[in-house]
Amino acid sequence: MELILLLAATDAEGNLGKPALGAATAAQALASALGGAKLVAGLFGARASQAAALLAGAGFEKALILESDALSQARYATDAAAGEALVKACGATLVVAPATSRIQRIIGGLAQRCGGKVDTHLTELTAEEGAPLATRWFYRQRMSGRLKRAQRPWFMTVEAGLYPPPAGSGSPAVEKVQAALPSTLTRVTGEKSPASGAQTIRPDADLLFVAGAGWCKKQADGRLHVPEAEKVILGFLEKTQSSLGGSKSVVDQSGEGTVLSFMSHLNQVGQTGSTPRHAKGLATCCHGEEPHTVGWRFVNERRAVNLNANCGWAQGKADVLYVADAFKVMERVNDLLGG
Ligand SMILES: Cc1cc2nc3c(=O)[nH]c(=O)nc-3n(C[C@H](O)[C@H](O)[C@H](O)COP(=O)(O)OP(=O)(O)OC[C@H]3O[C@@H](n4cnc5c(N)ncnc54)[C@H](O)[C@@H]3O)c2cc1C
Repeated sequence: MELILLLAATDAEGNLGKPALGAATAAQALASALGGAKLVAGLFGARASQAAALLAGAGFEKALILESDALSQARYATDAAAGEALVKACGATLVVAPATSRIQRIIGGLAQRCGGKVDTHLTELTAEEGAPLATRWFYRQRMSGRLKRAQRPWFMTVEAGLYPPPAGSGSPAVEKVQAALPSTLTRVTGEKSPASGAQTIRPDADLLFVAGAGWCKKQADGRLHVPEAEKVILGFLEKTQSSLGGSKSVVDQSGEGTVLSFMSHLNQVGQTGSTPRHAKGLATCCHGEEPHTVGWRFVNERRAVNLNANCGWAQGKADVLYVADAFKVMERVNDLLGG
């Protein structure tokens, strides 16, 4: 019988983030698809034991906890050693973990240490003919593949936002695991984060707001209106807490002087950019060309505002296209959203 381990790191407060809770539900789905595999949680962090309660209702027999101050910070050497200790403590054959940067950094090395194989960024875990079956996208989300493996342990990281957090009662029993973590030369002396206003990428937001190069182009009066564009866009983001995306053209403009100061290459959506997941998307001053809209694959409801009735959004890329001046539309939308 397969033994499934949910492997997750807790944050500094001893909580599990949404990706880890989604991975817990994915592990539970895999266990039931396999018709009764054993399900164990393995949590590591400075205050990991309190996180076991968050897994209530997901069918975990027990939660193995590895707690140490050395695990309060994400660090390859200590995280990989903690993961190895947890996998070996229960003899897991399948290891399910969230595809967070902290886990992605260690999962390859961890599979190597445990003599296993790894597949990352999976989008569904199920079973076929009694064997685990994992699904993931390839080639920038253009092709979907289904994978089986005979080798164990099989490490699998699951994308965020696909499975809901567990719901129910009855926390798993907690069992402490001891491990000799390596001493490290690195010392974390503090954290610096961007000012809250500068944080524009919000993966959990319901709406993706995309700004295209049109915001920085000459408008009907023959002049540029970049400061006005910045004010309108930031006003909308602040009021709605949407996530900000950009087209390649707008993020590439940094060398040209006419730039949106808060737009970086991290915001780029598309073939060479990201493929975010949001319930809705609104594109403004963006032409809707294929290399851009391929990044909208996981955006369900799509609307666009463009002056050009023949833009790409009108060619089957959007549900609704408003042929209008985005400056005027978004100013009015901001007014309607109020203070
Ligand atoms: C291999 C390859 C990979 C690529 N990868 C990506 C990628 O990852 N992401 C990406 O975005 N692109 C990518 N591209 C580029 C892509 O093909 C387009 O060139 C780019 O998306 C165009 O950006 P844009 O629509 O913002 O700008 P433009 O094409 O310049 O369009 C600006 C739009 O703004 C509109 N507009 C102007 N003023 C207003 C106004 N007041 N109100 C309303 N509308 C207005 C105009 O009508 C126009 O449609 C890639 C291209 C290649 C070849």
